[in-house]
Amino acid sequence: MQLFSTNATSANHQLVSFQQAVFKSLPEDNGLYMPVFIPRLPDSFLQHIEKYTFQEIAFEVAQTIIGDEIPALALRNIVEEAINFEAPIITLDQQVRVLELFHGPTLAFKDFGARFMARVMSWFLQKDPAAQQINILVATSGDTGGAVAQGFLNVPGIEVTLLYPKGKVSDVQEKQLTTVGNNVSALEVDGTFDDCQHMVKQAFLDQELNQRLNLSSANSINISRLIPQSFYYFNAYAQLKRETSYSPEQKLVFSVPSGNFGNLCAGLIARAMGLPVHQMIAATNANDIVPNYLLTGNFQPRPSVRTLSNAMDVGNPSNFARLRAFYQSEEDMPEEAVLTAIKRDIIGKPYTNEETQQGITEVFQKYFGYVMCPHTAVGYLGLKDYLKEKDASTCGVILATAHPAKFIDTVEQATGEQIVLPDSLQRLMYEQKNATSISNQYENLKAFLLQKA
Ligand SMILES: *Cc1c(COP(=O)(O)O)cnc(C)c1O
Repeated sequence: MQLFSTNATSANHQLVSFQQAVFKSLPEDNGLYMPVFIPRLPDSFLQHIEKYTFQEIAFEVAQTIIGDEIPALALRNIVEEAINFEAPIITLDQQVRVLELFHGPTLAFKDFGARFMARVMSWFLQKDPAAQQINILVATSGDTGGAVAQGFLNVPGIEVTLLYPKGKVSDVQEKQLTTVGNNVSALEVDGTFDDCQHMVKQAFLDQELNQRLNLSSANSINISRLIPQSFYYFNAYAQLKRETSYSPEQKLVFSVPSGNFGNLCAGLIARAMGLPVHQMIAATNANDIVPNYLLTGNFQPRPSVRTLSNAMDVGNPSNFARLRAFYQSEEDMPEEAVLTAIKRDIIGKPYTNEETQQGITEVFQKYFGYVMCPHTAVGYLGLKDYLKEKDASTCGVILATAHPAKFIDTVEQATGEQIVLPDSLQRLMYEQKNATSISNQYENLKAFLLQKA
């Protein structure tokens, strides 16, 4: 697998391997790594995909896109350890289905990316006896950090530092970030998620720091987080074919509750690899930068605002450059043409907090007590509005990004019923928080990291 930077020009075009992209995470020109070529899965595999297990599908997808940089046997092990929980499809009605991505250890979809990435890094490190200790740096708006902490816990040769915005993550999320211990430290930043993300970006661009420490990122910008997220799109398709009334004549549409747009980009990878996706719905909360772009053609990042779906409170979606790159086929392609191409495939829909609450209530009442987290509810609203303009040939799948119990206050208010916490969350609530408080100034992060050098 070879990757280029989205900021590269044809005059300055440096390709990197999968291993280099995984460990560097961000190219020096501040772009994002994109595969030069996304291969299609064999038609025979897609035609019979319903015969394969989730792990078999995941392996096929991983091997097809990554190629021979990781030998088949090792890759199979990585996949089997990383993807060790299910992602079932639930039918609410013939056009509204839910792909539950929250059955991993931290009860959100980010477990897929984090677990895969940790094992990929660990494999590359073990292969190279001279490898230096790695410092993973992650800004999290909530769920990323917990998933990364669990994914990397006790992985030899790797130290993890998580930055999260003080007071802007839920109680459960905070416990997931701050109780892991061992090789995982949490920094509670007096600022927003965008501040955290900015500080991390500064660290990667800081030459002095990078000479002392071997920094790496585990944000959704890392290509090894993105690839495993395409696995479950294919597995959703397999389940549709195997277990539901879905027929290949129907138009398959995924509604993706989006913040940084990693999940949506993973869907575009799946599509490029041959998954028959008709359109994708980019459902957001009030942080509607991408829906706005689709409407006006202007990409205007702005400070994030706080919403009920806090893992999507992103004011400058970092995967936007990748999203564009899927559609910019020529370097000098006019902006207009890029926009037109994107708009053919991606429909943007923003929703308010009030609508989100109503969405949870509506689903609960209409679909026999099915409970959605606020992020998933945004995806539901996006699909519902989309279906208003479509006929019965559309088959909609909402990505359910987190377990509703992670957002217990909002969900109990919207449904009027008490939620029973899963055992793993109940145990977590008794554990002691352990975090270091810092301001949103980059120098504080640098000082903290240099202590580890
Ligand atoms: C991270 C997250 C999202 C947003 O996903 P992106 O890939 O950043 O668009 C949505 N819902 C939940 C629960 C999340 O944790």
